[in-house]
Amino acid sequence: MKKMPSSMRPHIGIFGKRNSGKSSLINALTGQDTAIVSEIPGTTTDPVGKAMEILPLGPVYIVDTAGLDDSGELGKKRIKSSLRVLGHSDLIILVSTPDEFKIVEKDFIERIMKKDEKILIVFSKSDIESSIEINEEYLNELKIPYIYVSSKTKSNISELRLKIAEMIPEIITSDIILRDMVTKNDIVVHVIPIDSAAPKGRIILPQEQALRDSLDAYTISICVQTEQLADALDSLNREPALVVTDSQAIEAVAKIVPENINLTTYSILFSRLKGELDEFVKGLAVLRLLKDNDKIFIAEACTHHSQEDDIGRVKIPKWLTAFTGKKLEFIINPGKMIHKDISESKLIIHCGGCMINRKEVLNRIDKAKFSSIPITNYGVLISHIHNALLRTIKMFPSSYKIYKGILNEEE
Ligand code: SF4
Repeated sequence: MKKMPSSMRPHIGIFGKRNSGKSSLINALTGQDTAIVSEIPGTTTDPVGKAMEILPLGPVYIVDTAGLDDSGELGKKRIKSSLRVLGHSDLIILVSTPDEFKIVEKDFIERIMKKDEKILIVFSKSDIESSIEINEEYLNELKIPYIYVSSKTKSNISELRLKIAEMIPEIITSDIILRDMVTKNDIVVHVIPIDSAAPKGRIILPQEQALRDSLDAYTISICVQTEQLADALDSLNREPALVVTDSQAIEAVAKIVPENINLTTYSILFSRLKGELDEFVKGLAVLRLLKDNDKIFIAEACTHHSQEDDIGRVKIPKWLTAFTGKKLEFIINPGKMIHKDISESKLIIHCGGCMINRKEVLNRIDKAKFSSIPITNYGVLISHIHNALLRTIKMFPSSYKIYKGILNEEE
C-alpha cells in the first residue's frame, strides 16, 4: 500500500554534535537499522529525511542532521543546511550526553527558545557511567523537557516514544481534508481535469488525498472531468453534498454547479489543512492598491518542470495583469528555499505547497508577516479572480467573514 506522503507526516528534526548518538537513537526509536551509525564523528553529512513509524504516534518523517559542531568550510555549510531543517520540524530533538552538554548545545537551545519552537532534549548513552551531573535547574527554568535513554540497552526508549507523541500537537497529525464537511452516504463530486498539465497515468497528490478522504468518510465519491460535470449532476437522483474542483477549472465549474450546492477547490481545502486560509484571504486586500511596476513574488515550493502554460509562471501573471489592469513585475522563486529578495514585493503568491509540510507553510507565512508583505496562494487568488471565492469559502466562516469585509471595502 502506498505510504502517507512525507508532507503530511509530523516532521521530527534530530540535532546534536557529531557522534552524540543521533543515528543510533533513530534506529532505537524506529526499531530499524535505517540510519547510518558509525564511531567516526561526522558520518551524517547533509540532512537525511526518512518516512518511518513511531508508535504510538504513527507515521512520522525523521530528519537526521549533520553535527552542530562540524568544522572547516564544508562543516559550516553542513551546519547551515542542518539549521534549515528547523524551518519544517514540528518537534526538535537535541541529542547529547551529560559530559558533552556544553556551549554548542546551549547556543542551539537559545536559538530555539527565541523562536518558541518545541524542543525535547535526549541525553543518550545513559548506559555509560558519567561523573558529570546535568544542570537540571537550567533546563527546568527554561521549561525544556528532557529524558535519559540508552539506544544500546533500549532503556527508556518506550518512554521517549510516548513523550514524542505527547509533544506533537494534534493539529499536525490531523489529516482531515473534507471528512468534516460530509456524512456517510453523501455524494461528493470530484472535478479532475485531465489537461496537458496533468501527469501521465495518475492524478496529482492533493486530488488523490482528497478523494481518499471522501472515501474514508463513506461517501459516494464520483470523479469527472469538467466536460462531464453537467451530465453527471443531471444523472444523480439527489444533489451532491459537496463538489470539489481543481482551482484552474473553477470558472467553468462554478457556472455548472447550482448555487445551493457546496462548492470548493482542492487548493482551498489544503490551505485550510496545511496553512492559514484566513491569512491567504486577507492577502487579497492589497490587490486594489497595486500600481504599475509593482513587484509580485511567486513562491513555488518545489522545482517542478515548468509547462508551456505553467500556472505560476504563465497563467497567474496573465490573469492578475488582466484583473488589476496594471503592468506588474513577477519574481519567480522556485524551490524549498526563499532565495530571491522579497523585500520590495507588494504581494507574495504561494503555490499549493503540496510538497512541503504545514510547519514550512506557516513558516513562510510568518516570514511574509515579518516583512509586512501580504501573502495569498494560487487557489484563493484564482477563485477570487474568477469571482467564485465567496462560494468556495462559504463553508469556512472566519475566512468568509474576512473576505466579505474586503469586498465591502472595495465597493
Ligand atoms: S503546488 Fe507547489 S509544491 Fe506542489 S507541485 Fe506545485 S509548485 Fe511544487
